[in-house]
Amino acid sequence: MKSIVEEIFGSKVFDESVMREKLAKDTYRELEKTIHDGKQLNIKIANAVAHAMKEWALEQGATHYTHWFQPMTGVTAEKHDGFINPDKDGKVIMEFSGKELIKGEPDASSFPNGGLRATFEARGYTAWDPTSYAFIKNGVLCIPTAFCSYSGHALDKKTPLLRSMQAINKQALRIVKLFGNDDVQTIKTTVGPEQEYFLVDQKYYEQRKDLIYTGRTLFGAPCPKGQELEDHYFGTIKSRVQEFMSDLNKELWKLGILAKTEHNEVAPAQHELAPIFTTTNIATDHNQLTMELIQRVAKKHGLVALLHEKPFEGINGSGKHNNWSLSTDTGINLLEPGDTPHENAQFLVFLAAIIKAVDEHQDLLRLSVATAGNDHRLGANEAPPAIISIFLGDELTAVLKAIEEDKPYDGKEKELMKIGATVLPKFPKDSTDRNRTSPFAFTGNKFEFRMPGSNSSIAGCNIVLNTVIADEIEKFADILEASDDFESTLHALIKDTIKNHKRIIFNGNGYDDSWVKEAESRGLLNLKTTPDALPYFKTDENIALFERQKVLSKEEVESRYEILMDEYEKQINIEALTMLDIAKKDILPAASKFSKELTDTIANKKAIGIDLIYELETAKKVSEYLTEAYQAMMTLENDVKKLHEIDDFEKSAFYVRDFIIQDMASLRKPCDELEVITSNSDWPFPTYGKLLFGIQYTGIRPVFPSIKEM
Ligand code: ADP
Ligand code: MG
Repeated sequence: MKSIVEEIFGSKVFDESVMREKLAKDTYRELEKTIHDGKQLNIKIANAVAHAMKEWALEQGATHYTHWFQPMTGVTAEKHDGFINPDKDGKVIMEFSGKELIKGEPDASSFPNGGLRATFEARGYTAWDPTSYAFIKNGVLCIPTAFCSYSGHALDKKTPLLRSMQAINKQALRIVKLFGNDDVQTIKTTVGPEQEYFLVDQKYYEQRKDLIYTGRTLFGAPCPKGQELEDHYFGTIKSRVQEFMSDLNKELWKLGILAKTEHNEVAPAQHELAPIFTTTNIATDHNQLTMELIQRVAKKHGLVALLHEKPFEGINGSGKHNNWSLSTDTGINLLEPGDTPHENAQFLVFLAAIIKAVDEHQDLLRLSVATAGNDHRLGANEAPPAIISIFLGDELTAVLKAIEEDKPYDGKEKELMKIGATVLPKFPKDSTDRNRTSPFAFTGNKFEFRMPGSNSSIAGCNIVLNTVIADEIEKFADILEASDDFESTLHALIKDTIKNHKRIIFNGNGYDDSWVKEAESRGLLNLKTTPDALPYFKTDENIALFERQKVLSKEEVESRYEILMDEYEKQINIEALTMLDIAKKDILPAASKFSKELTDTIANKKAIGIDLIYELETAKKVSEYLTEAYQAMMTLENDVKKLHEIDDFEKSAFYVRDFIIQDMASLRKPCDELEVITSNSDWPFPTYGKLLFGIQYTGIRPVFPSIKEM
């Protein structure tokens, strides 16, 4: 008997099993070629596919279709069109053509384009990405698409991601061929993104303007309990949260998303969801859908999901661990060390290329995860730090050391490390051995890039990972292909790479202050903020790299730089304006009212001559903090005015970094002090206690509903 999960999995996806059922054999075969080999689709096939897709969508109750795309806003975009078309006698028929499937023309003038598109040519077009299946969401047939300007410039996150996958495919194939793996046709990068988020009760959320406008708390004193007892991590999941998770899984499974792991995270009210990994392109689409569904399903349970990287000060923020590897169409994971000297040697080539790529392109990796929200994690008092380094574990590091020094490997076997001849020792994959503080950790058969923020699209970091690694693999392949003594060239190549790039390997504690100093002496970059990191995007070398790998053109890099700097400035501007609004209309009036209550009581008590120390001392403190808050508020207000007068996106971003952020911190401080002394009944919005511990009651895991109830 099929389980319910098997029944519903992919039920809303136009996947290969549906295609096989709904399409004529030769149509299906043609489409398969497009999906797997990237062959162009002709209009006859497109018409047949569109027809089948529409019939299937109508069966599922859909009325509209949309080209679903990922503009530079970082969220997804959709414009719904009905299948409806007028027929004779005032009736309608439902239609969907191949042309509509393949190409759409949304008016794209309101999407960020970083100067790529003048308004007179504001149209953009969307083009079907057949490697990601169409699906149904809210009664709408969604067709995953790439989004470009009329002049052909990428305006989205998917186009360069697909290009970067092509780049790495091309170069990695050259390496596996050198090792005699002639049966391999394609190599794809794979990703499993672990998604962290917070859940708060909707009734508290609605009273917090900061959460509503910015996704994070801009004020808030710590509550008596935080995460210090470490009792939340992997703790029993509260029944209300469990009900939400079960519902979420159900919705994700229907969309063919391989939601697998769910657990409580370190911070109170923080949770994680991890899917089983898949091809990077699909993993990216799925992660966008996952973020959307986490938020939508939470609402149904009277909860609000916070995806911001740092919703609460003093409490761990949320990231998105990007587990990354390379896989052949013959089912081989190229980062699996393997059991034979031959497999080991191939693994070492890829490993060496990755080490070199990460060392040489620390700037790009860092900036691929740079956002205003993520600045609170990276470079702040939280890990991973803003410094890029690689964790390999003691065993693998020792192996590399033995290769570098032409010395016996210090393991049990005491063997001389001869690449292509010696068998590598087994590396522990056991998670207990893992270093959790490293930004880029080898975890047995994949790398885990831990820097991305919970809110970001994973397209950005994977575009960079794929591009920089493809570029190093290309250089390696050039050298190896030209050699007439493969074994010794290979050995020398790996040896030299280790020697020249070992500074990037760090197995110690990344949270430790001493690491910052050590990293500096190793000459590693430490780009603390987004405006520190982003300008590296448009250096000559980096533009040349993106052009060489055909991932982004110079214009595309420059436009992305502008969009990202602009987004940073805009986000913090919204935060500053929200702070001013809350301070002015809520916090200061509340504290002032409280102070009136105190002074009234003081007058009354004085009249009858009783002790008034509490009221007197508190009133004094309230007054002092009120003054400090008022002054800080005025400074922030003035600086925001100045910010608005700057009309250069770079200067604005730097101004925000150098002034606005400090002003915001100066305003928050006295306001949080006021919260600590003001009476609960006077404080204008729910405190950290309610937000972090507001979801109560524990219970048993709800039974999965039967298929009929869904
Ligand atoms: P952690 O201990 O880091 O929480 P998990 O096992 O929960 O690790 O998650 C690891 C993630 O890595 C999962 O999403 C998993 O599917 C993914 N993963 C495993 N193998 C690969 C691979 N070859 N390529 C990409 N991702 C992978
Ligand atoms: Mg992890």
